[in-house]
Amino acid sequence: KLSTIPLAVRTTCPYCGVGCGVTAMAQPDGSLAIAGDTEHEANRGRLCVKGAALGETLGLDGRLLQPALRERGQLRDASWDEALDRVAAGFARAIAQHGPDSVALYVSGQMLTEDYYVANKLMKGYIGSANIDTNSRLCMSSSVAGHKRAFGEDIVPGCYEDFELADMVVLTGSNTAWCHPTLFQRLVRARELRPQMKIVVIDPRRTATVELADMHLPIKPGSDAWLFNGLLCHLARQGRADRDFIAAHTEGLDEALAAAHDTCGDLQAVARACRVDPALLLAFYDAFAATTKVVTAYSQGINQSSSGTDKVNSIINCHLLTGRIGKPGMGPFSLTGQPNAMGGREVGGLANMLAAHMELEDPAQRAAVQTFWNAPRIAQRPGLKAVDLFRAVEEGRIKALWIIATNPVVSLPDADQARRALAKCDLVVVSDIVAGTDTNAYADVLLPALGWGEKDGTVTNSERRISRQRSFLPAPGAARADWQVLCDVARRMGFGGFDYQSVHEIFDEHARLSAWRNEGATARMFRLDGLAGMSRRDYDELEPIQWPVTRGKDGKPRGAARLFGDGRFARPSGRARLVPVLPRGPANLPGDDYPLALNTGRVRDQWHTMTRTGKSPRLAGHVPEPFIDMHPQDALLYGVREGELARVTSCWGAMVARVAHGGGIARGSLFVPIHWSGQTAAHARVGAVVNPAVDPLSGEPEFKHTPVRVEPF
Ligand code: SF4
Repeated sequence: KLSTIPLAVRTTCPYCGVGCGVTAMAQPDGSLAIAGDTEHEANRGRLCVKGAALGETLGLDGRLLQPALRERGQLRDASWDEALDRVAAGFARAIAQHGPDSVALYVSGQMLTEDYYVANKLMKGYIGSANIDTNSRLCMSSSVAGHKRAFGEDIVPGCYEDFELADMVVLTGSNTAWCHPTLFQRLVRARELRPQMKIVVIDPRRTATVELADMHLPIKPGSDAWLFNGLLCHLARQGRADRDFIAAHTEGLDEALAAAHDTCGDLQAVARACRVDPALLLAFYDAFAATTKVVTAYSQGINQSSSGTDKVNSIINCHLLTGRIGKPGMGPFSLTGQPNAMGGREVGGLANMLAAHMELEDPAQRAAVQTFWNAPRIAQRPGLKAVDLFRAVEEGRIKALWIIATNPVVSLPDADQARRALAKCDLVVVSDIVAGTDTNAYADVLLPALGWGEKDGTVTNSERRISRQRSFLPAPGAARADWQVLCDVARRMGFGGFDYQSVHEIFDEHARLSAWRNEGATARMFRLDGLAGMSRRDYDELEPIQWPVTRGKDGKPRGAARLFGDGRFARPSGRARLVPVLPRGPANLPGDDYPLALNTGRVRDQWHTMTRTGKSPRLAGHVPEPFIDMHPQDALLYGVREGELARVTSCWGAMVARVAHGGGIARGSLFVPIHWSGQTAAHARVGAVVNPAVDPLSGEPEFKHTPVRVEPF
């Protein structure tokens, strides 16, 4: 009933990490008009086509509206009491019989910060295991690990305005035009106003983003660290090192330079490793060296790699060497994929993090969190990261698994393994807004959740900006907020500490925890002191603000656009670290049986597994069906034809889609979008094909490089 909307509501888009402000307005005919929020600094009134179509995705067809329980193989509707009792009893039984590490939560960057906070508190503080991981593991965990190694804390130093102030923007491993569209529009506009601004795109594919580029380096897939190590050497050789900044604010320069020189000191060798024209490579290096205001933005093309953390640090090293960080128009910048990947990190939603950026492996910080939560126990060691977690489920080490707001049977690498794991698990609980996902087919308990427009809370975007997602629709059917359901289960398991009456109370606790014992040599930069103690009304009216948030002299919350401008970093020494990087290629290489390298990613108008964007005919019109993009000569070589069905097979699985050309892909590679599902033999669920190799530090899977073969279907 859209006519129940009270005038216009300011909220935040639920899709990508740009985190655009959205205004939702009820129309006289009962429909919903969506517009960009002109007051929101992230997008200043702009929306991409996905955000603009939000009103078309809110219908209740296909929604999960009632709890359900599986009995004798069939799902039947159930009351909340029955469903919650089943979940609480199942988790309690597994813990009693096999210990706290026999249960797990697998959550999502789609969740609001308050939902995430409660999930993490339940798992790490009350159950006493760190077996809570998130689909953000698949997205940006290499950036988290890289930030922590370099800065001591998971911090994005800059803000979107830096893209407009820079004289050169390097976009590497990021199809920004399609995956962060309104930020890309800001870049387009900035270049119109200052045509001298240079844009460099580093990407094996000739994506839509390349259309704006002054320079495109179509590097060999996986060779990024060679390229940035080579850049580090070039900058040092050209005398571009900022000696004062290095001496006062960094450590590790000699080791990082030695590693770079050993592997990438020769430009010709780097050009061969990256398979780019040496003259083009030199032109890029010279332009980078000559330009002080440089932003290097990176996304899944860097992160989703078995050496993703090293790639992140190879980029950060170049900015630390030149002191180009924390100042207007310069710095490394991680573009997060999901709407609340950052908020999840802040509350410790990853298996190797605690809460409020505190360290799980630091006994003093563990004790601080346990005291603050008044928790009976606290996880003593990192939990299982996503890929390992599903392996543990298949091996029977995890007996009860609760999946919230994500669809791992489609989205995980080696996704058929996830299916096998769920089929074997004693208790699979799924909280979702959609009834019929590939994952729900394996649920023993289905719990209906609130969707966008119905749920209430906060999200944090790629530039650390916390924004409110506000509810403006009634809860449909029996659906409930995730935080309420988590609290209900916690209370049934006998735990105190979960008597919240509202999201405001949860946010306040989160803000207070961020400041709890946060002082001295190990003080953290993540803090929300300025938002602690807010009234309910202030929370409801909270304007978007970038953390860290303190209070100004006027008593009002004050955010921070940039960090590290004073040269102070979050490591115990107060210095940033240049990390030695020894480049290494993908874990699995093409060979005789699987001669092509599969790359996966998004298309412009769809989101994740299409449970929402798939409802909009307008969005479906852009790319109506899955495809296999490949070079025409490769198609000829392997006997497949444009427009006809082909099968892509790897060691791990197979999928089927139509062959397409024109995606700007080099010979030897394929590109397949991630959005489509399916259980039949002719499905287009590309996750089933993707190899499960992960980065040893971050645990992020290598979605960008799986050896495959292609053949007619
Ligand atoms: Fe903005 Fe991203 Fe939503 Fe598009 S999908 S409106 S760019 S937040």
